[in-house]
Order: sequence, then structure tokens, then C-alpha cells
Amino acid sequence: MIHKAEFVVSNTNPGNCPKPDRAEVAFIGRSNVGKSSLINMLTNRKELAKTSQKPGKTQLINHFKIDDRWFLVDLPGYGFAKVNVKVKLGWEQMISTYLTKRENLCGVFVLIDSRLEPQKIDLEFLLWCGTEGVPTAIVFTKADKQSKNKTQQNIQKFLKKMREIFEETPDYFVTSSETGDGKDELLDFIMGLVNE
Ligand code: GDP
Repeated sequence: MIHKAEFVVSNTNPGNCPKPDRAEVAFIGRSNVGKSSLINMLTNRKELAKTSQKPGKTQLINHFKIDDRWFLVDLPGYGFAKVNVKVKLGWEQMISTYLTKRENLCGVFVLIDSRLEPQKIDLEFLLWCGTEGVPTAIVFTKADKQSKNKTQQNIQKFLKKMREIFEETPDYFVTSSETGDGKDELLDFIMGLVNE
């Protein structure tokens, strides 16, 4: 259970992130995947992370301090249909620098919409994380939107695709920010990471 969540700083430059003096976990995924809703659910706050960011808005690395003990980071989403090449390259530069250089980063949660067939952009991003040695886990979001069976089918399809590329698949969680399903499991896992 998270008791206290405070906004610390937003950056476009990974070099300006707060001093890495405590454990940090980050959340990332395609725009609209439910990232803000998930962060708000985990922190028991309605609007800590701003929902539904629009393409073209400045893409920021947002740091929150949790219970004075660890950082939760909201990373800018990928996969906007309409962003231009410059914005895309800027995102790649910022995210790859952050993910490979941030020394206190102990977990990155890649959010995947549990309703969708495996998407190339998600698989490519996970592949990149794997080759760079970024400590990754998957969160399948919006599980309330369909039957448990359908969710499981989609997850198995996604994991099968991943196994075609990787030897191992990451840990994964199934969540709904609508019902709170999966919240406790995910928080337990995060606590394990930040308390290591
Ligand atoms: P973000 O762009 O990844 O931060 O996504 P948001 O959190 O803003 O969510 C995008 C849309 O999906 C919003 O309309 C949310 O209300 C909706 N949404 C997010 N998570 C869930 C969920 O678990 N269940 C349902 N039914 N809708 C969700």
C-alpha cells in the first residue's frame, strides 16, 4: 500500500533527473494503454499522473517520490500515429539514454493493452529492452474490458510471439484500473524490487 506520493520534477533531459539516491521503477507503453490510470490506481490518487496526453505535447520524464523511499517514474508513451520524425527521434534518444544510464533503475514496466493482438511496436520495444539488459516486466492493462478467457488468450498469443524472439519471457501482471484487479500483486512485486 502506498501512503504518500509527491510530484518531484519533469524533465526532457535524462541528465537532469533527481539524484539517484533511492530505488526507482518506471512505467512506459503505447499512448492510451492506460499508464496514467495504472499509476493513479497504484498510488491511490485520482490525478497524480495526467491522463490522455495528446501527441505533440512535450514528452517528459516525470518523477514522483513514493513514501519518501523510492521514485516512481512516468515515461512518455510511444506509438502516436501522427508524430513527426523529429519527435520520434527525440523520444528514442531520451528514452534510450534514460533506460540504459539511470543507475538506480531496478524495474521497467512495459504496459500492453490486453485487448489487442500482439503489436509490432511493443514487441520491438521489449526486444530492445532485452538486448540492452533493461530489467523489464509486462503489465497487461484493461483486463475488465473483456472476458478472463479472452484476456488469457491474448496474453498467451503475446508471450508466444515473445518466445519466438527471446529464450525467456519477462514476469507479467494482469491489471484493471477500473476494478483494481492485479493491483496488490503488482505492488508486492514493486516492493520486492525497491526493497532489494
Ligand atoms: P495513457 O495515455 O496510457 O496514460 O492512458 P490513460 O490512463 O489516460 O487511459 C486511456 C483511456 O483508457 C482512458 O479513457 C481511461 O479511462 C481508459 N482506461 C485506462 N485503464 C483502464 C482500465 O483498466 N479499464 C478500463 N475499462 N478503461 C481504462
